[in-house]
Amino acid sequence: MRAPSAGRRSFAVVLSVISVAAAAAPAAAQDPILGFTEQSAEHQRAYEQGFQKGVSPQVIGRTSRALSRTPQLIATPGVRRAFEYSVERLRSYGLDVSTPSYGVYASRPEDVRVTMTAPYTRRLANKEDGFPWQRDFDDVVVGYNAYSPSGDVSGEVVYANYGLPEDYEALEELGVDVRGKIVLVRYGGSFRGVKAQQAELRGAKGVLIYSDPEDDGFTRGAVYPDGPWRPADGIQRGSIQYIFNYPGDPLTPGVPSVPGTRRIAPDDADNLPRIPTTPISYGEAEPLLEHLGGPAAPESFQGGLPVDYNVGPGGTKVRLDLDIAYEQLPVRNVVAEIRGTTKPEEKVVLGAHYDGWTYGTSDNTSGWTTIMEVGRSLGRLLDRGWRPERTIVLTGWDGEEYGLLGSTEWVEQFQRDLARNAVAYANLDGAGGSSFGAAGVPQVDDALIEVTKAVADPRTGRPVYDTWRGDDEAPEFDRLGSGSDYTAFLDHVGVPSFEAGFTAPASSGTYHSAYDDTFNMEHYLDPGYLGHAGSARVNGVAVLRLANADVLPFRYTDYATAVAGYIEDLQQVQDETPGAAQVDLDILLEAAEAWRAASEALEQRADELLAAGDTESGTAARAIRRINDALMRQERALTTAQGLPERPWFRHQIYAPGLVTGYAVQYLPGMRDAIEQGDEATAREYRDLLLDSLRDARALAERGVR
Ligand SMILES: [Zn+2]
Repeated sequence: MRAPSAGRRSFAVVLSVISVAAAAAPAAAQDPILGFTEQSAEHQRAYEQGFQKGVSPQVIGRTSRALSRTPQLIATPGVRRAFEYSVERLRSYGLDVSTPSYGVYASRPEDVRVTMTAPYTRRLANKEDGFPWQRDFDDVVVGYNAYSPSGDVSGEVVYANYGLPEDYEALEELGVDVRGKIVLVRYGGSFRGVKAQQAELRGAKGVLIYSDPEDDGFTRGAVYPDGPWRPADGIQRGSIQYIFNYPGDPLTPGVPSVPGTRRIAPDDADNLPRIPTTPISYGEAEPLLEHLGGPAAPESFQGGLPVDYNVGPGGTKVRLDLDIAYEQLPVRNVVAEIRGTTKPEEKVVLGAHYDGWTYGTSDNTSGWTTIMEVGRSLGRLLDRGWRPERTIVLTGWDGEEYGLLGSTEWVEQFQRDLARNAVAYANLDGAGGSSFGAAGVPQVDDALIEVTKAVADPRTGRPVYDTWRGDDEAPEFDRLGSGSDYTAFLDHVGVPSFEAGFTAPASSGTYHSAYDDTFNMEHYLDPGYLGHAGSARVNGVAVLRLANADVLPFRYTDYATAVAGYIEDLQQVQDETPGAAQVDLDILLEAAEAWRAASEALEQRADELLAAGDTESGTAARAIRRINDALMRQERALTTAQGLPERPWFRHQIYAPGLVTGYAVQYLPGMRDAIEQGDEATAREYRDLLLDSLRDARALAERGVR
């Protein structure tokens, strides 16, 4: 699901300069590798070379075309075909494949009707026209928002820009109330489920969400099929499940949707939206906006359509008539394992969702195809006797688009094992293109930098690191909010998670529309599948390093430093927000510093042991085991069993999705929301919980070097 960044940054799509560079790593062969002795690094470099050579853009292209030939929406014949194809291919690569499956309460559109009823009657189109090269176009689902309730509502329209809290404040200043109205909002700035909830909270009776051309249409560039941007009939489908409360099956929060699990009543499910909501194209939004009366829209509300944007009400009326069926739908994951030799119980997981809204070539055949290719190359090495030390698990998730269904249920089912044995989770949601980006927990930053220096960008032959940093001295890391399958791993269980790969910012132009297809991928987003190949090499090498490292390449000094920064930011919020709750944060800063110091001592000890080159003798082996144990458990220490205020499923205390953003990350979420709302008791409670966690993390680090 993850929305491509709707930012206004410019970028260059490299279409013509496609030099297929050698797959071999450009870095000098003697470079040390974080977490490896010199001897193990030599073996590792050979393993990685073999792996990188095995990745083929041609095979990736074949896999991608096969998987995105027809639409792959949850519980359709298309997704079943993609599932069977994936299982068959991965088995043919010599991997051990299982298919953990669930029955999840989910929606299916029976009939979606939006009609403009004033100033004249006009039925709005709810599907794209299609092109001759699109197969089985009848199987493309109509434009709809998963988990919208059914409903038949009519009335006046109010245009609320992105539907953010500040947009409603601007409307209030104009004297416009959305109570009893149908709110028209545009995509961007927040997760669409947040848009539905914000409208619901303000008493609106229905929501229409459209894609303004300024954000991802003709204002940005040539539209499909002449370019990658959104044409007038392109509709962004998408779930409006309140995943910021909890993702997954609405009826089984915290437990897997397997037979025998008790389901709660839909009325009690806090992640279900309550007012009918549906998406439309800008071609269909234009007449609505054109006739809308009321005050002129503020500057920030102006979009790219050639009309005078007014906010209403008046002029335009609509009827929104949604018939949405609810039933238990099958969700089938694909899980392929390569069993580790010396530490088989420890797991490094690399996953991507394989379901899609339509053809899904970018979202997310690109991610899943990339992982299938990692599996193919690792499988070839397996044949030649190369095995990892820890177990590598490759996972294809089903039902991500509806609310991270497959990954959430799987993590909930295996959370005890994951809490004990998961080393890390790497996610891929969108893996083609010529830009590179990474987001994740801070202790992995250094390892990811090393990996991108060891892998060549297939387009340039230079290290991926150079593509990543561009003209900057160093690349920038993002931290994880929500909107993709790392959510349950990181936020529910505390498994260190990251995403690193090539992306195509222009993929936002066809995002969740019928035009996210092979044509778009091969012409505009990732010609030659070179970005896919680069993503496969980066992720494969990263996973191999995590699986084979003598000492896990985690730098918790970086985490502690980042947390200290978040605490300082929070101090500023406390100082500058009128009405903010006031709690003492200095003890937190001290605890973060103590954790950093303990981590530094642990890292030094680890580096000494690795430099000595001995991992086998009794004392060295025991020391390394203790260090790894400490490194495995520190992220878990940052979670709290009671969860965040009002959303106990979210247990991570450093990162969570923002309540009014949905995708973007909120730092120190338990305290931050409470401080901003002036709730001193809760702020203090969560300050103390975080204090405990920071002390636990420090104690783990100290025990690691004792
Ligand atoms: Zn996705």
